[in-house]
Amino acid sequence: MRTISLILCCLWLSTTQAQTLDRSVFDLLNLDYPGLEKVKSAHSQGDDDRAAAELLAYYRHRTGVSTPDLDTTHLTLSKRERQWADDALEHTFYVHDGYQPSFNYGKDINWRYWPVEDNELRWQLHRHKWFTPMGKAYRLTGDERYAREWVLQYSDWVKKNPLVEIPKQLYEMQDEATGEAENVRFAWRPLEASHRLQDQINQLVLFLPSPSFTPEFLTEFLVNYHRHAVHILRNYSAEGNHLLFEAQRVLYAGAFFPEFKDAPAWRKSGIDILNREIKKQVYADGGQYELDLHYHPACINIFCKALRMADVNGFRSEFPPSYAETIERMIVFYMNLCYPDYTNPCFSDAKRGNPRVEQGYYRDWLKLFPDNGQIRYFATAGKEGQAPANLSKGFIDSGFFAFRNGWGTDATVMVIKAGPKGEWHSQPDNGTFELWFHGKNLFPDSGSYVYEGNEEVTRLRNWFRRTASHNTLTLDGRNLETRQSETKKWQPEGDVQCLVTENPSYKGLTHRRTFYFVDETYFVIVDEATGPATGTVNLNYQLCDGKVDINPQTFALSSAFEDEVQVKLQCFAPEGTSLKEEEGWYSTAYRQRTPRTAISLNTPKAPTETIRYITVICPYLSPDQAPQIEARFTDSRQIEVSINQKTRILNY
Ligand code: MG
Repeated sequence: MRTISLILCCLWLSTTQAQTLDRSVFDLLNLDYPGLEKVKSAHSQGDDDRAAAELLAYYRHRTGVSTPDLDTTHLTLSKRERQWADDALEHTFYVHDGYQPSFNYGKDINWRYWPVEDNELRWQLHRHKWFTPMGKAYRLTGDERYAREWVLQYSDWVKKNPLVEIPKQLYEMQDEATGEAENVRFAWRPLEASHRLQDQINQLVLFLPSPSFTPEFLTEFLVNYHRHAVHILRNYSAEGNHLLFEAQRVLYAGAFFPEFKDAPAWRKSGIDILNREIKKQVYADGGQYELDLHYHPACINIFCKALRMADVNGFRSEFPPSYAETIERMIVFYMNLCYPDYTNPCFSDAKRGNPRVEQGYYRDWLKLFPDNGQIRYFATAGKEGQAPANLSKGFIDSGFFAFRNGWGTDATVMVIKAGPKGEWHSQPDNGTFELWFHGKNLFPDSGSYVYEGNEEVTRLRNWFRRTASHNTLTLDGRNLETRQSETKKWQPEGDVQCLVTENPSYKGLTHRRTFYFVDETYFVIVDEATGPATGTVNLNYQLCDGKVDINPQTFALSSAFEDEVQVKLQCFAPEGTSLKEEEGWYSTAYRQRTPRTAISLNTPKAPTETIRYITVICPYLSPDQAPQIEARFTDSRQIEVSINQKTRILNY
């Protein structure tokens, strides 16, 4: 057995080790570029071996070009990264957090191995996330195995994943590509290619000193790198965060490899797209149009990366002042919609960010906006700068609203999503909310769980994405037909803060939802379903995990959580309404889900009848008792709410 694996191993080495000089590199380079004089001279004398050796010497000693992403004098390698680097020596590749432990791709690497038919697993293999950790491990340990193996895997990937042109639309289509196109669809999707384009800058810097990085390999590396940039330029994604990622990385390629003849065009292409898209993809209020509070900071980071690359290489002036102003607005938007512990609502396809990483974002952003005291506040966990002067804040263009009574960890924060349809990652969830109280998310959004893949993967995705898996109103459990909420009223200050939002949810049914934040303590929601539609109206609520007692007669849900944070929710519904316990899950990370309490209130609706509900939500701390709640409609535009016999009249 050992002999066989040894033979296989030798085969793998011998088939991939032979590096041949790729002469086409000299056609791609501008040999008149300052510093390439010896390369040009050797090449013009027909001595390409020497030209390649001179080219390698040039890159090993190059000055005047830098990357903001890597500081080789202060390298760090986390325990996880070290694991990825070590596993990669055995061809166990870290591809996706949702698929752990990582899969092994074989002695003779099978780049088409697809153990679970989730598109992300196949796509992200081609991001080579373990390569840069290998580079850092190499630099920090001096162990040549990392460099040798990286060169082998790099060349093996190039050999086994040839680029054949396929129609652009095939990259995003399920089951349409066959033959070699089936592999190209994954290996060369522009987003993945752009990922490599960006990261291979770091890999070049890290591995350049290695004896395994030969002149021959350099020619292969540069030709492959150039192929990537050209491919992305021809196949840019049509829109969204993919296009932003691709443009930023093409800009990186142009800035970091100015020796290529095409470099000025790449840089210009990246800058032009970013300048154009920042106007198109960001609403006036600072929200990115995919309405996803995980992609939102990712987009901020894309825009910032481009700016930092411009700064370190001296071309900031190619971005107009409005570019940086928009980024700053995006950051203010984000800080207002996140919780005091740096977690984010999981609306749309959002995952929950890691608070340590999120705080690191603010530190990065502070470098670009050192005068912004609010960014400083979040960058320093409140030690410097100032918390925003406002508490509750609404962003009407994007349709995000936060009711908030403080910026500390003892705050109450409700975040509501009720805006336009948005773009790809946005879900049909108008009117939904999350409620965070004293460090606990009492109504976490269902999240997304997975993206797309075979029938089973897509079925799971659709469950988490559907309207009824949110805290909002549906008709016959169906997904919203129209997603275009209109803000009728937004009152973010005073004892009774208020949001009125209306969505033409279905043909013949409009959902009007009024939120009150009363005494900065509890919430009242009035739902009205109006229009000629008939069927069953469903009011859906999804709580967090932990014990919740459900009273099907009074429609009261009372928590009995083990920690001190508690919540009571009670609905007041028309006659004929019945409560049903539903399947409940929420997901804050890919392929991770937690069971939780979910219910629907179901009310038959006759044509022209208006169905109205009042919901009262009281978060509180043990050992306080769950409050006694009463609520009723007094006349057509007033309600009376009593909490422990203390009564208030609310107009709606
Ligand atoms: Mg959702």
